[in-house]
Amino acid sequence: KNSARIFKALADPPTTSLQRLKALTTGGLPTFIDVGNSFGAPAIVEDNIMHQLVKSGKRVVMMGDDTWIQLYPEHFNKSFPYPSFNVKDLDTVDNGVIDHLLPSLHENDWDVLIAHFLGVDHAGHIFGVDSTPMIQKLEQYNQILEDVIDTLKSLSTPGGPHENTLLLVMGDHGQTLNGDHGGGTAEEVETSLFAWSPKTPPDAVLSVLGENSCNFDLHGKEVCVSTMQQLDFAVTVSALLGIPFPFGSIGRVNPELYALSAGTWDNQRTGINACTPQDDLVAWKMRYAEVLCVNSWQVKRYIDQYSGSSIIGFSAEYLHHVEELYSKAQANWSEVLKPTCPSETAKGEEFKESASSALQLQIDAYSSFLESFAKLARSAWTEFDLWLMGTGLLLMILSVITQAYILVRLNAVCQPSDQECPSSRIIPKLSFAFTLVTIRAASLLSNSYILAEGRVTNFLLATSCIAGVWSSATNGNFTIEVNIPIISMLFKLSFVH
Ligand SMILES: [Zn+2]
Repeated sequence: KNSARIFKALADPPTTSLQRLKALTTGGLPTFIDVGNSFGAPAIVEDNIMHQLVKSGKRVVMMGDDTWIQLYPEHFNKSFPYPSFNVKDLDTVDNGVIDHLLPSLHENDWDVLIAHFLGVDHAGHIFGVDSTPMIQKLEQYNQILEDVIDTLKSLSTPGGPHENTLLLVMGDHGQTLNGDHGGGTAEEVETSLFAWSPKTPPDAVLSVLGENSCNFDLHGKEVCVSTMQQLDFAVTVSALLGIPFPFGSIGRVNPELYALSAGTWDNQRTGINACTPQDDLVAWKMRYAEVLCVNSWQVKRYIDQYSGSSIIGFSAEYLHHVEELYSKAQANWSEVLKPTCPSETAKGEEFKESASSALQLQIDAYSSFLESFAKLARSAWTEFDLWLMGTGLLLMILSVITQAYILVRLNAVCQPSDQECPSSRIIPKLSFAFTLVTIRAASLLSNSYILAEGRVTNFLLATSCIAGVWSSATNGNFTIEVNIPIISMLFKLSFVH
């Protein structure tokens, strides 16, 4: 019962798959600027766990959503990508994954296996969350999950290939009731992460697994739901797989997920030093504190490099506070590490207790540094400045009104049909430009728009180019000098989607 855990996983906006995959593997916070790249995604340039896995000689197998291949073109030993672009297609990707998933569990040629289903996302987009296709998809996933766990169980006997396997099932983002996503509402950022391990951690270690997050459900069964930031995923997985943490990651190794993996407590019963009593909890805490030490060092290194090279940076006052937390934690750590060998009589329960509470203090000190910095980064990178947004909106409305006003004034001076009037010739062109600008302005207010923003801009630009070329050709003033650049721009636009 205690070898499985369910977390409420909190994503950061923008909640689109590409940005989420990026955040899950880099441990950083992608901004809205990245969203324009959501389609035709360029390979990730930041340090990430996939890169570290390959560097450490781990074999990665991927199946499902082909976004992974765009992000990591050369990282997989084996891959079975399926096109994810057609939202009306609920099954191609999922069926492809199902074909390869169970057979792969019997293979010995991978260290990390990624299976990315996406039928649920598409079912939400097309039919909404509360629909029959959605229920069918979820039932299908339940069945697959049962099959996967049964297979892993049967292969996890001592010496078996899945003895130390950790299964993680998660969503990269949520969706609104209509199936939209991209923004930062609770429905969009809240997803779940289910973790299952074939081995149960010792009771002493389980005591740190946030017992207070457990409740009894309607059937009297105990259900434990903890909360985890998606940002923490990259470092936690890195720590579990024993690979270096990604350079730009600002997450913290999640203790509950970390404790669930057998490797973090198994064979750890030798104690923290020669005179420490052999105790599961003390040994585990020591191990976790060590991981947090490396975790904090890596985040501090990133802070130093980022504040040294970024123009915007963080507020000096808050940065100082975070740095203070780090030095405090470091100073404390050297105290904890001092070998304190108790006299023979003092050994036992008392010493165990003091070692455990000293380590807890250390864990809290590192956690508070890491959490403070993640909070600072979040406020600087992903929160919205309402005042600036309001100013932008106002400028947009003002520009549309100004254009409309000019058109009305011109119309008052002369009618478009009045060939004698000098202004009459520009009225149709101005009306056309006004229509385009108004469409563009109105489209900015639509839901999930950030996904297609770049493409709509390109489409409107291309439309105006075609209209320009058409009107100059029909008016008989088509000149090569003016139109060749326009036509070549048109070609360029059509290649950028
Ligand atoms: Zn989607």
